[in-house]
Amino acid sequence: MEIRDVDFRGAALKKSQRPREWLPHVAVAGRSNVGKSSLLNWLFGRSLARVAKAPGKTRTLNFYLVNGAYYLVDLPGYGYAKVAKRLQAEWGRELERYISDEERLAGVVTLMDIRHGPTGLDLDLQSLLDEAGLDRVVVLTKADKVGRGQRVRMQNELQHRLGLGSRPMAISVRTGEGRRELVRRIDELVSQWCHRQLGD
Ligand code: GDP
Repeated sequence: MEIRDVDFRGAALKKSQRPREWLPHVAVAGRSNVGKSSLLNWLFGRSLARVAKAPGKTRTLNFYLVNGAYYLVDLPGYGYAKVAKRLQAEWGRELERYISDEERLAGVVTLMDIRHGPTGLDLDLQSLLDEAGLDRVVVLTKADKVGRGQRVRMQNELQHRLGLGSRPMAISVRTGEGRRELVRRIDELVSQWCHRQLGD
């Protein structure tokens, strides 16, 4: 369903600060500078998520209610070198806690820069999602920055390295490529979660 209506519902670090309604969450995660804020604004059709001028600033989980039906959750960007180790560890713990204990989490959209491929932290996140048994949509950002050959090489390499059933999708906020498919994949995560709830 097209994203018609988006409402910022708050930022949380602790569990008690998360929204209370029993609605599914789809989280969006990636390292700092991967293009996460740009992607969220592009999905929302307006600038709600700040395009970070100082990468690594977003330390909280930010909750956006979409169409009154589900939350898109902007997870803190990881791997920004200038952030103190202690703070990195604290976010890491909160991120891990959220991924492993949030029952409303329907799945995670994981972002990687199409030019660079996965970093160690990206692979750590994938393992965390494997352990938690969570569905994911792997997205390669900034597709406009590479040619066809490099794109296909990166898609094949990632599919192989992450053991994915299909090639990761490529998007570009510059050209608009991939938006419709991404919205469809998010809808799928939401409806699968809803079906599981009915089945329980
Ligand atoms: P975040 O730190 O992950 O939230 O990343 P930002 O959204 O702030 O983006 C980091 C940089 O990448 C900014 O300079 C964006 O303009 C740029 N960027 C994001 N998406 C794209 C894209 O699809 N194509 C191109 N060429 N640049 C992008």
